[in-house]
Amino acid sequence: MTKKKLTTTGGAPISNNQNSITAGKRGPVLIQDYQLMEKLAHQNRERIPERVVHAKGWGAFGTFTVTDDITKYTCAKIFSEVGKQTPMLARFSTVAGEKGAADAERDVRGFALKFYTEEGNWDMVGNNTPVFFIRDGYKFPDFIHTQKRHPKTNLRSNTAKWDFWSKTPESLHQVTILHSDRGIPSTPMHMNGYGSHTYSFWNKKGERYWVKLHFKTQQGHAFMTNEESKKAIGESRETYQEALYGAIEKGNFPKWSFYVQIMPEKEAEKTQYNPFDLTKVWPHGDYPLIKVGEFELNKIPDNYFVYIENAAFSPSNVVPGIGFSPDKMLQARIFSYADAHRYRLGTHYEMLPPNRPLSGANHYHKDGQMRFFNNFEENPDAYYEPNSFNGPEEDKELAEPPLRIDGDADRYGNEDDDDFTQAGNLFRLFNNEQKQRLFQNIAEEMAGVPEKIIQKQLELFDAADPEYGKGVRKALGM
Ligand code: NDP
Repeated sequence: MTKKKLTTTGGAPISNNQNSITAGKRGPVLIQDYQLMEKLAHQNRERIPERVVHAKGWGAFGTFTVTDDITKYTCAKIFSEVGKQTPMLARFSTVAGEKGAADAERDVRGFALKFYTEEGNWDMVGNNTPVFFIRDGYKFPDFIHTQKRHPKTNLRSNTAKWDFWSKTPESLHQVTILHSDRGIPSTPMHMNGYGSHTYSFWNKKGERYWVKLHFKTQQGHAFMTNEESKKAIGESRETYQEALYGAIEKGNFPKWSFYVQIMPEKEAEKTQYNPFDLTKVWPHGDYPLIKVGEFELNKIPDNYFVYIENAAFSPSNVVPGIGFSPDKMLQARIFSYADAHRYRLGTHYEMLPPNRPLSGANHYHKDGQMRFFNNFEENPDAYYEPNSFNGPEEDKELAEPPLRIDGDADRYGNEDDDDFTQAGNLFRLFNNEQKQRLFQNIAEEMAGVPEKIIQKQLELFDAADPEYGKGVRKALGM
């Protein structure tokens, strides 16, 4: 391979990359040394805004394979035949920690998948938990503030966390998962992923189904206790990156099985619980898991920044056959995630290498940051729509079935919702050792929290299961 010549960003060969230009051997430096300025200016711009949430992440490319036929539920091309394979990108993350945070902290994990389908990108932007702390995006900024740093101390605050949770009973289900064993998975390969929200499928006959998405680890669940996580973080802050990178580079490709739960459209009016409430699961007994396929991660991107830091996942990216649902939290994220990427990466972020649809993107959005691609080269006159110059047109065949909506517009609370049964069901599923670790994990995280906030939270544990409240009291030495 012939060695390339070092050049300026303008492509001109560089004759000396070791010394700046000085007046005489002892300096000073001349301002005309533009390459010195250029190097320093580039260094100043090496960072882009980190994600406000999910800043610390680990990712890889992979392949999704259909193993079972679900075409009666959805016409999405990705599922069109058994054996079909679709390239994909996965990014896992913690939620609250900044970009330099340690990997093995107790936190929910992001579980984001981008499928490069033949009809555009489908982004499945989920978590390693089937539920979330809140059911309404209106509360999201407040909730995240409690997970981040206090404005004066610049420290994270147990008081803020428990104050918010104790005043938000809907959080109890997720609080229970977070402080259970699954709150610190050993590696990203040893955890499940869930779409968490309710989405929708529609088929060729125009029938809609509500759907929950489950991705079960084939590596098995593995977790760290608080002590193990402290030790791991003491030795390395990058345990997840090391594990994922190490496994894939060695050819140990991690795999997940993909299942769905399916609810016919009309049934949503009859379920005891609101099936669009992100703080609830659909019990498996009511809606059993249906196998769809599996994916494996098999390639580490050649450049982390290009392919993982620039990866922009958004629930707004759906494809024909897959749609949204009335889930309030999902609807807030549809706006919020894409908007975060416009801010963080720039207007045309969808054309960056990890985000660019392999099937092509033909739209009439015009200029702005990163407009480095042409419109339609064969017909440059087609730069608005409708036009008479053979520009891209809509395809009415792909219309989603209409969604029936009734009810008066208002800011509805969910005061009559049951926030306790499912949290209690989860608690009752734990064996004695798991319960003891749950009590201990909660007690440790309540250090320094004012008594009246602890009392309010204990009432919530009692409401889920009296044994739950009793166990936490004991761990607190009450
Ligand atoms: P099931 O007994 O059918 O399902 C319980 C599920 O809980 C399991 O399938 C497993 O889901 C998950 N689970 C098992 N052990 C743990 C653990 N230590 N920590 C966290 N999750 C665990 O009952 P239901 O479907 O009626 O659900 C009962 C409770 O289980 C729910 O209230 C919810 O908290 C929890 N759960 C339910 C899920 C669902 O979609 N129905 C999914 C996950 C949890 P998995 O195989 O996905 O790991």
